[in-house]
Amino acid sequence: MFVGAARIGKAMRYELRCRECNKSWGNVPKSICEDCFSPLEVFYDYDSIRADFTREKIAQGPPNIWRYSALLPLPDHYQPTLPVGFTPLIKANGLASSIGAKKLYIKNDAVCLPTLSFKDRVVAVALANAKSFGFDTVSCSSTGNLANATAAQAARNGFKCWIFIPADLEPAKILGTQVFGAKLVRISGSYDQVNRLCSQIADEHLWGFVNVNLRPYYAEGSKTFGYEIAEQLGWRLPDNVVCPMAGGSLITKIKKAFQELIDLGVVEPKHVKFFGAQATGCSPISTAVKLGNADIDPQKPNTIARSLAIGNPADGHYAIKTITGSGGWSEDVSDPDIVDSIQLLAETEGIFTETAGGVTLGCARKLYKSDRILPDETTVLCITGNGLKTTDVLVDEYEQEQPIAPKLAEFERLLGEFELPVAVGA
Ligand SMILES: *Cc1c(COP(=O)(O)O)cnc(C)c1O
Ligand SMILES: [Zn+2]
Repeated sequence: MFVGAARIGKAMRYELRCRECNKSWGNVPKSICEDCFSPLEVFYDYDSIRADFTREKIAQGPPNIWRYSALLPLPDHYQPTLPVGFTPLIKANGLASSIGAKKLYIKNDAVCLPTLSFKDRVVAVALANAKSFGFDTVSCSSTGNLANATAAQAARNGFKCWIFIPADLEPAKILGTQVFGAKLVRISGSYDQVNRLCSQIADEHLWGFVNVNLRPYYAEGSKTFGYEIAEQLGWRLPDNVVCPMAGGSLITKIKKAFQELIDLGVVEPKHVKFFGAQATGCSPISTAVKLGNADIDPQKPNTIARSLAIGNPADGHYAIKTITGSGGWSEDVSDPDIVDSIQLLAETEGIFTETAGGVTLGCARKLYKSDRILPDETTVLCITGNGLKTTDVLVDEYEQEQPIAPKLAEFERLLGEFELPVAVGA
């Protein structure tokens, strides 16, 4: 049963407001202001939260995103059902020395649970609200990872689930949705067309679309990526963050997370530069930043980085603002460079990322080369998804080895082919 507006009143810890005209909409499944058609955003009553969001209180919480519940839009007494997030932040010395960096960190959401991408964070927060709004069916339009995360968490939480995707997604992302029992609808069209269809469906059916009518709540889940970076750096902010962009939401929410930490006195104030990363074959946000435009021109995506292939990003305008307002920059990389960076990250750090991670690293390499990022600055690369989902881009990169007989002599012969004789001793 759909119960509509909930928890409007004086005790409200948070509510939706229009980003542009500031009109308050309470807490409802809605993403666009009906007065001015701008996006809605979750606003908090920070004074009522301050005492619950201290380093000590956070440290007492569980080792997952729910340790930051005080600054997430969650219904009162919400009981989380999954330990999402708190993925490793690692110092990447091997990678650093091969790309001319020094203080380089990787935030590794390739191992985020339950479905191996940062989308698990946003879905966890969206579904908490789907339940309180009374939806029994949840849904999304997806470039792949959101489909996996929504399907898995819908299964865990007992929702019916419909997923809408462009027909040409990677097989692993399609299977990784179907396995959870979700109803999958493949659309012959681009993500942007899929998303438009979902907006129409959301108007007709009382379903919770995590990235349409629940989008303001969903997007807040991305803040946990930023909180974790700060906490794992010892409650300090980095100098730079390099972040892949699809709809452009994540980069804006990392910035919001850092600002909240500063405003609540959890970290020392620091100016952080934000760097956006896109594939050249779908780079509406990077292109706008490079041209000095405040808004994007929609593109028709053509890249192997399908998880980032959104030609008309919903938060494009705000991503541009985040980047240029911080003194950062935005880059884009070609498909071959994406593959090369996937391999470099794997060979130097033992982390297997999907194409989006190749985009992040490929762009970071350009940013170091052009001195937009300096080696001594503390820089965090956002690795947001797992390489096992996009193995199709690597199949032509490696030879299929011929099998050998299970005999030591055979192996020694093989070894001999690889090893050059080395003189031993003096
Ligand atoms: C969705 C996605 C992104 C980008 O997220 P936005 O908030 O839409 O910009 C980055 N990396 C991966 C792996 C994704 O699936
Ligand atoms: Zn408005």
